[in-house]
Amino acid sequence: MRDFFLSQMDYVFFLYGLAFLLLGAACLTVRSVAFPRLPWGWLASFAFVHGASEWLDLILLSFERNQNLLAIKTIAMIASFAFLLQFALSGFHQLNKRSSLGFTLAALLLSLVASAGAWGGLLWFDVAARYLLGLPGGLLAAMLIYRARRSSRAGARPWLLALAAMMALYALLAGAVVPPSDLFLSQLMDYPRFLEITGIPVQVCRALVASAMAVVLWIGSEVPGTKTEQIPFHYALGLVAVMLILIPGGWALTEGLSRQTHDDIAKRGNRQARALARIVDKDTERINQAAHFLAVNSAIRNLAVNPSEATLQSANQVLDQIVIAFQLQIAYILDRSGTAIASSNRNSPESIVTANYAFRPYFQSAVNGHDRTYLALGVTSNILGQYSSAPVQDAHGKVVLVVVLKSVLPSLASAALEVNDCLLLSPVGLVLDACDQHADLHSLWPLGEQQTRTLIESRQFGPGPFPPLIEAKPEPGQVLRWRNQNTIYIDEPLSIEGWSVALFLPLKEARIYRLFSIGVTLVMSLLAIGFYILLNAQEVYAVRLGVLMLQLRDQAHTDPLTRLANRGWFQESFSRELKKATRLNQNLALIMFDIDHFKKINDRFGHQAGDRALVKLAETARLAMRDYDLISRWGGEEFVALLPDTDLETARLIAERLREQIAATDLPEIGQVTCSFGVVERRNNENGDSLINRADAALYQAKDAGRNRVICA
Ligand code: GH3
Ligand code: MG
Ligand code: MG
Repeated sequence: MRDFFLSQMDYVFFLYGLAFLLLGAACLTVRSVAFPRLPWGWLASFAFVHGASEWLDLILLSFERNQNLLAIKTIAMIASFAFLLQFALSGFHQLNKRSSLGFTLAALLLSLVASAGAWGGLLWFDVAARYLLGLPGGLLAAMLIYRARRSSRAGARPWLLALAAMMALYALLAGAVVPPSDLFLSQLMDYPRFLEITGIPVQVCRALVASAMAVVLWIGSEVPGTKTEQIPFHYALGLVAVMLILIPGGWALTEGLSRQTHDDIAKRGNRQARALARIVDKDTERINQAAHFLAVNSAIRNLAVNPSEATLQSANQVLDQIVIAFQLQIAYILDRSGTAIASSNRNSPESIVTANYAFRPYFQSAVNGHDRTYLALGVTSNILGQYSSAPVQDAHGKVVLVVVLKSVLPSLASAALEVNDCLLLSPVGLVLDACDQHADLHSLWPLGEQQTRTLIESRQFGPGPFPPLIEAKPEPGQVLRWRNQNTIYIDEPLSIEGWSVALFLPLKEARIYRLFSIGVTLVMSLLAIGFYILLNAQEVYAVRLGVLMLQLRDQAHTDPLTRLANRGWFQESFSRELKKATRLNQNLALIMFDIDHFKKINDRFGHQAGDRALVKLAETARLAMRDYDLISRWGGEEFVALLPDTDLETARLIAERLREQIAATDLPEIGQVTCSFGVVERRNNENGDSLINRADAALYQAKDAGRNRVICA
């Protein structure tokens, strides 16, 4: 799991940036709908800038560390945390409606971060910004969201609580888990420790929290003015679905392309390594043959059989000739004790004649009758070279002398053609030759203490200490960092036993393919998010328009004072109901009523008290009616109720009950009022006007008969 994540850090950074882009988009959509009125714009700025800084991190990861880019990334990250802090501070400012110390605090924190940066460089800048801006910014933002819960509608509260919790979690993940640095606090919890404890890179956790925040913002918000109509979050679900396809799809593309390239590079590397090994082998073979040739040379055999001044001289001449013919460093003859008795450099100051080489493996093999090729450092010359030894045997097959030829090492640099990083490796991992000269006589991976001692005591490779070039012995095909690049390690055995050539093949191509696939996924994700935002905005406006139209329709149908249906709406409904009743031959009743002596009430208590009495009375009347009945304000203080499917007697009872209720209602300031009622029932083929007129007439009869009564007609 851990290694998997580590090998996919570029994709992790991509998702990290994408999650913040989603959060930013969510903040922007929330701004246009009702959620507590918080400065969401600042949170959106935080999310967008932070996401962008993560993508810069991705580029930094994919290419060699570039200081300028790193500086831009760090500054973007700090700016994003400043925006987060600003979101919290200006949110509190709005809630409290008074100025606070917040801005001074922000300035103080920013200057502290700047000083840390000036003191300890980019890394300190980064760490200090996390502690001083990210952590307090995130925690304050969480507090702000938690507080805003109180002033929000009930439906949004659980979401706000979830959002506050996530924000607090984010504050800890981003502000308390920091890159490894020598700043005291960072030793408490840094990225490697977090990874060690949880098995998940902290960036993955932060990305998950940010995406969850985006989803909560979307689900929890609603269009203003509606109680039930949430923003249809099927679009948000659609986006989530698209993302659930895009993200693994993009990863598969990234991984597939980079694996393919990786395999191609490895195959090419294997071919190159084989070619290189064959070049070296050929060189070795050539010198070996020369040694063989020398071992059976008659002058040399003569020296063995009959050592004298004369035979020595002619043997020396043969040595001189072979050095020239095979372009050797040196050719020499050792006796059975390993002491040089003849050498091509006998006349030079570094003459090795009389030196003893009994400790050399190539001597020990040859004296026992076997040829040996060996790579080592010259004891006298201090020059690396290839030694080929061969035994000189007498007539009985007994080894009497050993001939040794030393040539320069097969030059990898000239043979390696396009390969830049190749090593000649000893069986224990000692680098004898490298295209890069600095690696000579280093060990590739760390040697054990015993191994180092044995190497030094062998006197083949100088005094040590053979510092290692990489951390551990690599496997062929393994990906490892080599000279600040990701490379594939490949080795190929040489004909010299145990020795090999090793190549490091840069994986830059694979990186570029990964970045390309990530770019494709990014563009598709941006398109999906953009499309979503457009659809969402359209939907929000459609819902808003619907709400507005409903409000307008209500206004057109309603009497503004009493909130009962107005006369226009009553007449429309009445003519519809009358037609229906006529067709189905159903009953239909009307109750018309008017407040008694209302003029006097107005005169006595004032028009406004009269209005309040009207409102209260309308309320009483509405509650007294069945749901299906329509009651309206006919004019002034006169009301009419339409009772479908109701006969005259029932209507009379309803009117009577209403009359009693009104008479029993205590109106504020005014006390009791009474009403007079006229009740009529539809007659066959009667039109609306006639029915209204009869109701009106019945009402006047009630007035004439002394008021506070019901008259049926
Ligand atoms: P009655 O019906 O018992 O014959 O006597 P009345 O005094 O109620 O007479 P009428 O029905 O003709 O009264 C109409 C009065 O109602 C005129 C006006 O002062 C009052 N009125 C009408 N519309 C309103 C209104 O919207 N608000 C207030 N406060 N008074 C209104
Ligand atoms: Mg009246
Ligand atoms: Mg009246």
